[in-house]
Amino acid sequence: MKKHNFSAGPCILPKEVLLQASEAVMDFNGSGLSLIEISHRSKDFVAVMEKARSLALELLGLEGQGYEALFLQGGASTQFLMTAYNLLENKAGYLNTGTWSDKAIKEAKLFGDVMEVGSSKDENFKYIPKGYTVPEGLDYLHLTSNNTIFGTQIKKFPKTDAPLICDMSSDIFSRQLDFSQFDLIYAGAQKNMGPAGATLVIIKQDILGKVTRKIPSMLDYQVHINKESMFNTPSVFAVYTSMLTLDWLKNLGGISAIEEINDKKAQLLYSEIELNPVFNGYANKADRSNMNATFNLSDDKLKGEFEKLLQEAGINGLNGHRSVGGYRASMYNALSLESVGVLVDVMSEMERKG
Ligand SMILES: *Cc1c(COP(=O)(O)O)cnc(C)c1O
Repeated sequence: MKKHNFSAGPCILPKEVLLQASEAVMDFNGSGLSLIEISHRSKDFVAVMEKARSLALELLGLEGQGYEALFLQGGASTQFLMTAYNLLENKAGYLNTGTWSDKAIKEAKLFGDVMEVGSSKDENFKYIPKGYTVPEGLDYLHLTSNNTIFGTQIKKFPKTDAPLICDMSSDIFSRQLDFSQFDLIYAGAQKNMGPAGATLVIIKQDILGKVTRKIPSMLDYQVHINKESMFNTPSVFAVYTSMLTLDWLKNLGGISAIEEINDKKAQLLYSEIELNPVFNGYANKADRSNMNATFNLSDDKLKGEFEKLLQEAGINGLNGHRSVGGYRASMYNALSLESVGVLVDVMSEMERKG
């Protein structure tokens, strides 16, 4: 039976990418050797790293503007501390929009003063704070563009003189933005780009070199930039698969093309959530995420029936995060409109059964 994979991460990847990646594990570029048993310094792998880095900048429209793309390890969680290690000298601002922002704040506090410019903790992160002021003189302002767990997404980014850092783990490459408004973007690969194990960091070079502390090499962005993202052995399989996904996206027509499909998927599901009395949306309407839709059953007694229908339809990964409960449909780039249609059919079937 065809599976419809709504998993929040690691998550669905394009079928053709999985096919190519698995072939490369057996025989990379016709070499008779596996991608994962050759030197990362070999000509063929160096070409992979170069292509992955340049595709990332190209898709974001950031080529030739002083940005570097790195594929690092340690997940987005290491970026929580690495950003502060490299950039926080006195005081940084954070917008607290959920569990991931909260964790980023906790790490940053090890390095300097942290000011929460806004928070939606009071309503368990159902909304994105607005109308907050960003004081002058911050080392940077840190945002989380998409809150994977709560299903909210920043639609309008604040204007500030401070360098803007954004955790885009769960919505990078999903919608068009002016990416040049950001000075540093990071994203764990496993939400919209590839398998776990690689973290994409897009960084504007000129924000570096301003802190006085000494930085260990592995945590120093400048070291990774100087070594073209090959300071140590990169996660070769994750980088290769990410490269394939970025290439897939480019061939599809880039971010503008995928955004159109993502909008359709989100509209289809959200209109069902709104019109169907069996379900209630979790996040505030104005701030709803196009990547992760969070919702609940209006009556918990229907749980058994709903989950039975989901299983029969081949729907996987719909359970909400433990801090929210209910359900979460993650609609990353590789998920088809058809899969969302199958979910919506199950939801309307629930309504018919009343
Ligand atoms: C999943 C996620 C993280 C954590 O990523 P890891 O790679 O597991 O460290 C951080 N931020 C956001 C927005 C996420 O969705």
